Amino acid sequence: MDLTKVTQQIASQQDDLLELVKQLVAFETPAPPARNTREAQNFVADYLRPLGFDIDQWALYDNDDIVVGTKNGDSTYQSLIINGHIDVASLNPDEQWSFSPFEAVIQDDRLIGRGVSDMKGGLAAALFALKILHDQNISLPGKVLFESVIGEEVGEAGTKSTIDHGYTADFALVTDSSDLEVQGQGGVITGWITIKSDQTYHDGLRRKMIHAGGGLRAASAIEKMAKIIIGLQELERDWAINKVYPGFPAGTNTINPAVIEGGRHAAFVADEARLWITCLSQ
Ligand SMILES: [Zn+2]
Repeated sequence: MDLTKVTQQIASQQDDLLELVKQLVAFETPAPPARNTREAQNFVADYLRPLGFDIDQWALYDNDDIVVGTKNGDSTYQSLIINGHIDVASLNPDEQWSFSPFEAVIQDDRLIGRGVSDMKGGLAAALFALKILHDQNISLPGKVLFESVIGEEVGEAGTKSTIDHGYTADFALVTDSSDLEVQGQGGVITGWITIKSDQTYHDGLRRKMIHAGGGLRAASAIEKMAKIIIGLQELERDWAINKVYPGFPAGTNTINPAVIEGGRHAAFVADEARLWITCLSQ
């Protein structure tokens, strides 16, 4: 693919991109207080429609909408989500703005306004990139989803709501503030490992379960969990050496035994142990 025309169009339309960021910043969408994004989301939907995207828009909360634009592709190719949030950090009374933070201005070659960095600049760049591809008649072979979500600043599950609505893809690109660095993020898996016996034994029976001749086939759930913790730690160390990918530093995949609970009383053998682990790729 010859990208010359694409880069030429990007260069010649830089002012359009800056204008698009300013337009997004002008929608006052701080969270908290939130409940203020519908108008901005309508704008995003209206931007995507002429680019060939089918729009699904729903209210996660009153006056807080989520927009997903879909451009179908060949299902034999992998699919891509481009995701960003339209809410911005709230304004604190002690912030010393010399102009309205929702009217972005260019000062010393920088665009300044509430949410330019986090992340209406990223949203605008992604929308602008899709427009350029459209203008140049370049269609990506696989399905492309564009998600503009809410609630990122206040821990509300805007992106989760898109998953609940059935929107998934092979890859996701999140254009949040990064100083133009592209960072891989494998994601997080977290959950409980539970070891549970259907029998509860008094401590007095322990002498029968700690050797083969005792006749009682039983064990402490806490001691079994200890084996799992050691095993997970060895796996994590193995991953640090052997599970490496280009662009990811060694040790990028971790397993954290974050919380442990178990046992019932000093007079009993532990019949249950629970471990909360978090696997992170970063
Ligand atoms: Zn952000």
